[in-house]
Amino acid sequence: MIIASNFKTNHTRAYTKNYLSKLDSLNENKIKLAVFPPATALFEHELVGAQNIYPSFSGSFTGEIGLQQLNEFNIRKILIGHSERREIFKESQEFIDKKFQFCKENNFEIYYCIGESLEIRKEGIESTIQFLKSQLMNIDLDYEKLIIAYEPIWAIGTGVSASLKEIEEIHNSLKTFIKAPILYGGSVKLENIKEILSLKNVDGALIGTASWDIDNFLKIIDEVK
Ligand code: PEP
Repeated sequence: MIIASNFKTNHTRAYTKNYLSKLDSLNENKIKLAVFPPATALFEHELVGAQNIYPSFSGSFTGEIGLQQLNEFNIRKILIGHSERREIFKESQEFIDKKFQFCKENNFEIYYCIGESLEIRKEGIESTIQFLKSQLMNIDLDYEKLIIAYEPIWAIGTGVSASLKEIEEIHNSLKTFIKAPILYGGSVKLENIKEILSLKNVDGALIGTASWDIDNFLKIIDEVK
């Protein structure tokens, strides 16, 4: 079971340090945990991954961080394709593919996000699956350090997750051609994590809002146990 926390643009370095030390004291080894803090709060710590990378060792890419900066903290996990990067920062599928290739070449554990808009969802299950496949088109699904996160955009940060039936339907379809673990993300919280993770083809959760408070995240981990 994999439980990952995405801080997005929240928290300081001091908060993150304390957050990690509380996770350390858990001494959890059955659940695979991951934490994605903002770039200013990266630490050399086995649970820590980066929310972003520019696909270059270094160079002239103002505002971005590259491999050189992540290497300084020995970061080995990366989040790619999050809907906020796709939607707000207009990252194209071509650019996301480039990031994936770069991170694969550099042996990162890749948390690769896919997810449809409400508009596509309303077109039905066939259109939704087709769309998700288009987000996976040039991705090496056999890469051994790949973790997929299915995150319907309409469920992210809304407080209302997709229904169990909706999650099950998509995960079952994805599992017909993906061997990698598949996480669900989109308003996962203490109240719904148990039932979501009890679905057969859900291998874990990527959690935003409900993971930001360490005490709440600890309760979620406890619930998963
Ligand atoms: C996310 O953005 O990856 C996410 C799952 O957010 P939330 O849990 O807040 O819906």
